[in-house]
Amino acid sequence: MTNAHFIVPVRDGERELLDRVADLATGFAAVAADYDERAELAVEHLDALHEAGADDAVLPESSGGAGLSYLGLGRLVRILARADPSTATIWTMHAGAGVALAEFTGESSGSFFADELRAGKRFANALSEPASGNRFLQPQHVAEPTAGGWLLSGAKRFVSGSEIADYLLVNALVAGEPAFFGVVPDETVSIVPIWDTLGLRATRSQLLAFDDTVLRAEYRGRAPRPGDFAVIPAGLPAISLGIADAALDALVEHARTREILGKPLAHQQWVQYEVADAQTRLAAAHALYEQALWQADHGIALFFDNLSRAKYLANKVAVDVAQLGVRVGGGSGYLKRSPIQRHLRDAQAGQLMAYSTEVIAGVIGRGVLGVPDEA
Ligand SMILES: Cc1cc2nc3c(=O)[nH]c(=O)nc-3n(C[C@H](O)[C@H](O)[C@H](O)COP(=O)(O)OP(=O)(O)OC[C@H]3O[C@@H](n4cnc5c(N)ncnc54)[C@H](O)[C@@H]3O)c2cc1C
Repeated sequence: MTNAHFIVPVRDGERELLDRVADLATGFAAVAADYDERAELAVEHLDALHEAGADDAVLPESSGGAGLSYLGLGRLVRILARADPSTATIWTMHAGAGVALAEFTGESSGSFFADELRAGKRFANALSEPASGNRFLQPQHVAEPTAGGWLLSGAKRFVSGSEIADYLLVNALVAGEPAFFGVVPDETVSIVPIWDTLGLRATRSQLLAFDDTVLRAEYRGRAPRPGDFAVIPAGLPAISLGIADAALDALVEHARTREILGKPLAHQQWVQYEVADAQTRLAAAHALYEQALWQADHGIALFFDNLSRAKYLANKVAVDVAQLGVRVGGGSGYLKRSPIQRHLRDAQAGQLMAYSTEVIAGVIGRGVLGVPDEA
């Protein structure tokens, strides 16, 4: 009932990959709470996803990969996020950085990064800066020219999976313009140990300090452009939708098994009404997302595209469903051992990840109202 949102079939051949990922996800779900409690990267999950062909699949055909569709990507991340949203986040960031480096560096190092992704090397995005806030594609750090490239000093925040990354996708201003680079982390890149988050704890999204790190000219890429396979914008809504699905599952399980004065909680009318409202809005969020993925597969770009709207709605609905879970869960759901509290913590993160719900709302609202963007 809660998962009857799949409207459009995926392409031939993608079903098998999704079945393999769904099998793996059953095992990931069983240990997700333990990884969260220990705030530990589930490296074994990432290895299993690579073995299952996820990294080869996500690489576009133009970069030598299998060319997963947006619809297939969305389904894959959603399956993962329902089971273990930290693994879903790390894999999305890894795939996003790997595909971006393969595409951005095109004719220079593109085939090198594509081969590395297919070989099982790990990638992470070091884009967000303390001073650029949510506008992670607009770096404030200026890279200064040096022999063979440019030098970068400054911090990048919330770099998910950075501790196990073989390559970082890094941006900085070069001659006043945002430029993108592949960076092999060396002794000039260090972790500032402030990391410890409320939710998505198994992403270990660290603050990185760069101290005269060389941005090599040979690993310099162009900026993102239409037509690139946009893994992260397409994957982020699925993280919140997967969390929302899991939160609704936990809520339903609790409401059906918890008896109050001789009757299951599910028999109380307020629970039925609230669940109807939450499930219907969640189904609408899934439908908008499916439509946006289909549009992306068909090259249809809409005003601040529907993937951003789908993220906005998915982020909000996930928090709403998770909060309802806490109400329905009562004291039992408030216990640390309950999945209900973890879903609430995880749901909050979706709104923060760029672009945040506030940034998206600003763009959509200005567009609807006809208010020009500020320079
Ligand atoms: C779990 C997690 C994983 C992440 N992983 C990565 C990663 O792998 N790589 C990476 O580079 N980044 C990553 N990020 C960073 C993320 O994508 C955001 O860029 C970053 O969190 C936003 O910056 P900030 O936290 O400094 O928030 P701030 O920018 O300080 O935001 C504070 C508030 O201001 C609002 N706000 C900010 N800018 C604007 C604006 N221009 N207009 C209107 N409102 C605004 C925000 O919505 C928020 O409500 C991750 C974040 C999280 C939570």
